[in-house]
Amino acid sequence: MTIYNLGSINIDHVYRLTALPRAGETISSQGYALGLGGKGANQSVAAARAGAQVQHLGAMGAGDGWVLDKLAAAGAGTGAIARLEGVATGHAIILVDGGGENSIILHGGANHALPPTLLERDLAGIGPGDILMLQNETNLQAEAAARAHAAGARVIYSAAPFEIEPLRAVLPHVTILAVNEVEARDTFAAFGEDLPVEGMLITRGAEGAEYRDLRSGQVWHQPAFKVQAVDTTGAGDCFAGWFAAGLSRNEDPQTALRHASAAAAIQVTRKGAGDAMPDRAEVMAFLK
Ligand code: ATP
Repeated sequence: MTIYNLGSINIDHVYRLTALPRAGETISSQGYALGLGGKGANQSVAAARAGAQVQHLGAMGAGDGWVLDKLAAAGAGTGAIARLEGVATGHAIILVDGGGENSIILHGGANHALPPTLLERDLAGIGPGDILMLQNETNLQAEAAARAHAAGARVIYSAAPFEIEPLRAVLPHVTILAVNEVEARDTFAAFGEDLPVEGMLITRGAEGAEYRDLRSGQVWHQPAFKVQAVDTTGAGDCFAGWFAAGLSRNEDPQTALRHASAAAAIQVTRKGAGDAMPDRAEVMAFLK
């Protein structure tokens, strides 16, 4: 069983500043860190570190080979990542001041230029038992969802960043909708409580998470583990990646939730997004 993940790849440039710059101002940074981000790449790393067989489908600029090395080092397949000439790899310029306040510039770049070959060639083998993960940071979401659904695979869609029209386009093909508390509220407001999906994964930060089977009405709850959080960026992606990995090896929802919750608890104690995802050994040791 393979997890195909059609998703964004971003390079995060994080600058530490004493204060955020005002218009026309030039300021020197106190520190700089480079990391792997993008909801797609984060989820691929999380699911691969959880032990799942993961194939990432996405696009980048022609340079930045270290990004592929990081994905591969986590155990994700990178053969279906298109390298585009003349297009920048998606990236985020993240400014953080002394009080933890931030300003972010996001440039989607290659994430919005995914070529159709990703569907025709790289998604051709998807079938029953497989999972397609998607988030709202690339083109081709609805096309990929329709193809995977028609082939009998499960589709897990993270409605983040939340936008009504992309969600409307994928919803008929979604098996499990993954949202945080705010996105859940926005989804119900836009589409009502009677969603045409099998299940909903709702994360609530330090309050924990739940999985709802919308066909049977059964709900599984999982409290968050108590930890000292230092950076919650990517916590939702960590949770979604681990939950999908659990489903791909036929874990019951409660087990998948518990493992995902432990993984996310570890992830928030570390700085960074994709680089902070724990592996299976760490999660099992945490749960002992
Ligand atoms: P982000 O946008 O920061 O990636 P999100 O809003 O998508 O996150 P959250 O609901 O904040 O996702 O967090 C996902 C999961 O991570 C939670 O359900 C919980 O298991 C874990 N988590 C998040 N914050 C904490 C915390 N402070 N302590 C322990 N676990 C946490």
